[in-house]
Amino acid sequence: MRIERKELNWWEKPYIPAVVYGFLVTVRRFFSRKVTMQYPEERWVVPEGFRGAPYLVRDQEGRIKCVACQLCEFVCPPKAITVTPPGPEADPEAGNVEKCPRDFHIDMLRCIYCGLCQEVCPEEAIFLMKDNTLCGYNREEMDYDMGRLLDLGGVREDKIRKWKNK
Ligand code: SF4
Ligand code: SF4
Repeated sequence: MRIERKELNWWEKPYIPAVVYGFLVTVRRFFSRKVTMQYPEERWVVPEGFRGAPYLVRDQEGRIKCVACQLCEFVCPPKAITVTPPGPEADPEAGNVEKCPRDFHIDMLRCIYCGLCQEVCPEEAIFLMKDNTLCGYNREEMDYDMGRLLDLGGVREDKIRKWKNK
């Protein structure tokens, strides 16, 4: 189907209305509130519930909450998570009660901050936190290992004690 174009009149042909409208927008912005931020001296204050980088957490007893079920690895759309499950040997700290990953990596260059890992985790072991300015000098630095993820995630209070020795 052919769509006929509207003919421009003599007033529209030199783009006068468009130019005037453009100037009006500029004038309005000139007198409006300044929104430019002097980054990095000034930082955006992120609101509660902001979905930044995903980190692992420990419970109030300092134990790793992740049980290496690998659900987050399975559900992660860009395949940013790699969980190395434990072997058959018992964890000397927790006995055979619950598992703990041998290693856990998140490639922050792949992560799209979708929050599916947090949603799916049955142990509430991974949370999207407020970090939104991750940077590194090379790709390897952006591959966060378990120690780094736990350090950044910190401790999260949990009323349910899931880990009991013996
Ligand atoms: S936030 Fe989304 S993309 Fe990032 S690690 Fe979790 S599931 Fe993967
Ligand atoms: S973070 Fe949660 S979903 Fe991912 S392996 Fe650990 S327990 Fe499972």
